[in-house]
Amino acid sequence: MEKVYEIFGTNVFNDAVMKERLPADTYEILKSTIKEGKSLDSSIADTVAFAMKEWAIEKGATHYTHWFQPLTGITAEKHDSFIFPTEDGHIIMEFSGKELIKGEPDASSFPSGGLRATFEARGYTAWDPSSYAFIKDETLCIPTAFCSYSGEALDQKTPLLRSMEAINKQALRIVRALGYGDVKRTTTTVGPEQEYFLVDKELYDKRPDLIYCGRTLIGSMPPKGQEMDDHYFGVLKPRVAAFMRELDRELWKLGVLAKTEHNEAAPSQHELAPIYTTTNIAADHNQLTMEFMKKTALRHGLVCLLHEKPYDGVNGSGKHNNWSISTDTGINFLKAGKKPAENKLFLVTLAAVIEAVDKHQDLLRIAVATAGNDHRLGGNEAPPAIISIFLGEELTEMLNSIANGGNLLNTERVRMKIAAEIIPELKKDNSDRNRTSPFAFTGNKFEFRMLGSASSISDTNVMINTMVADVFLEYAERLEKADDVNAEVDAIVKNVMENHKRIIFNGDGYSAEWEKEAEKRGLLNLASTVDAVPLLKSEENIALFERHNVLNRAEINSRVDIVLENYTKVLHIEALTLIDMINRDVIPAVTAYSNLLCDVINNKKALGVDASVELELLNRLSACNKDLFALASSLKMAVASAERSKDILEKAKEYHDVILKIMTDIRKYADSAESVVPSSYWPYPSFGDLLFKI
Ligand code: ADP
Ligand code: MG
Repeated sequence: MEKVYEIFGTNVFNDAVMKERLPADTYEILKSTIKEGKSLDSSIADTVAFAMKEWAIEKGATHYTHWFQPLTGITAEKHDSFIFPTEDGHIIMEFSGKELIKGEPDASSFPSGGLRATFEARGYTAWDPSSYAFIKDETLCIPTAFCSYSGEALDQKTPLLRSMEAINKQALRIVRALGYGDVKRTTTTVGPEQEYFLVDKELYDKRPDLIYCGRTLIGSMPPKGQEMDDHYFGVLKPRVAAFMRELDRELWKLGVLAKTEHNEAAPSQHELAPIYTTTNIAADHNQLTMEFMKKTALRHGLVCLLHEKPYDGVNGSGKHNNWSISTDTGINFLKAGKKPAENKLFLVTLAAVIEAVDKHQDLLRIAVATAGNDHRLGGNEAPPAIISIFLGEELTEMLNSIANGGNLLNTERVRMKIAAEIIPELKKDNSDRNRTSPFAFTGNKFEFRMLGSASSISDTNVMINTMVADVFLEYAERLEKADDVNAEVDAIVKNVMENHKRIIFNGDGYSAEWEKEAEKRGLLNLASTVDAVPLLKSEENIALFERHNVLNRAEINSRVDIVLENYTKVLHIEALTLIDMINRDVIPAVTAYSNLLCDVINNKKALGVDASVELELLNRLSACNKDLFALASSLKMAVASAERSKDILEKAKEYHDVILKIMTDIRKYADSAESVVPSSYWPYPSFGDLLFKI
């Protein structure tokens, strides 16, 4: 087998390849384009395209595609081959600068929430040179942004790039005001930890709910669940280990910094963490990671489930978005250093994040709102739907003492104490309380843990970047005007501790008391997608996004519609799948077993043997079948009624208020039937099989 350093990035048109294959002047221009986040100079496009094509063909590529991230949340690609006919009936392989810079996918089949009437069906993709081109499936993939011809964002990447620009603009003002004169650019960085389940393909194929919905709609916990906590960091099963090794290699070839692979809390649940990188690249890489998890699993006779809640009663899957911001001179804004109380950049950034998260709790909740994630948030294993920040007691105390500037002696003492004691703790805080926090300071970064496992990380980072940019803007104005910047930073900290302290919570985020306490503090608790997403359209939010040129009113409105539409579609498919499973598999299975019971009862009676147990079972199963039949009919009617709604929010509410409830009821009856019907009669593999047979 090749060495890791030999395969790392072999399928990426990265800096080394560019340097080797491009004329020196072209390379310099491209490099500065990338560094400064500009778009490609058309004068060098043909040269770059030619080099890229030659490289790709040598690697066996025959096609190219503009790889983009429409609002469906997954990636899209339309493949074109390089072939070009010659007059003598042969072909040559061609790829022009124009084709590299701009593509025109048929935009009509992607959701736009009314931004682009379908009859126009015109949008274009444009290369994002800050994200390297790469090869997968014999195709040269060019990472692109996707916009309508009038310039509106039709994808997730465009607003992400705009938000990175927005925060860069304000962050530069902050660092300059604090005296870091040599900084030219700042970049946000992200390391997304990805959770997932694996399931045996043959068993998966027997479950329509897994096939159509990615999660089980019925089924109950096996005798052994995760209560033993023996899976977490346990030894990998050989098949899983083989899958992980191959996945790592596939990702390394694509330049993805896959670093850590381990088991998670639930049986057959695992996690992959990459080393952090620039946010837009991290978003691309996370999409590739999810894609390759699915593909690689299949090669090992496994299916990778990215759904947030594949099994009721078992821990769901999420993503942890580790976020920070640093300068091109290598300074991490969130690195406390040896004397955090004197590190003004650290303090100002900490203050900005606290203020931003408190002011914009709604945006963080909206960013992670999907039908799948609703099963997780507020459930007892995931962070609750309430947003709060974990700082740790020492750091909170430090901010308090700075805010409490009257007592300088005391502040001084705390400063000493902090410098001496807490730094190791700041570096790595794995206390249980921290783990229950949705937004935790974990050393030199903030870790947001409410993301669903299946979603793109783009929305989350658009929100974090924009809301921190907005607070930075305000602070920059203060710092630029201040006579004494250091005193002004302390004043900012004081302000934040006076006005936004309520968002800081260092206790157990999963406890019932916290929910009550949070309500007292006036924190938002948006339980479902339907409650959260419409808030994106508030005038305040529209003003925020327009102020920083991240999203305009039309784009925001379209996004709300798309998320709600997606929500109703998911529930529609789930409801139809469940109706089918109940009517065609579950009821007949119960009937078949009842038939056996009837025979036994008759035979026993003929022999004069007691048949009371069989009779009792038969009665229970008959009642259960009757309820299932009735509930499946009501579900059908409820779906028909919801589908008649013209208004998308009304429709989503019907799905949430009525349909989800009937589905939960059906599950109760089906699960109680499963607990008495012999497995030879039950139409589906049990949770025990799905979770433990790998
Ligand atoms: P832990 O295991 O305690 O959660 P790790 O050090 O393993 O912490 O980090 C978790 C994730 O955070 C990794 O993906 C890591 O690369 C990422 N990370 C570390 N530093 C930063 C940073 N400055 N910006 C963004 N992500 C970071
Ligand atoms: Mg983590």
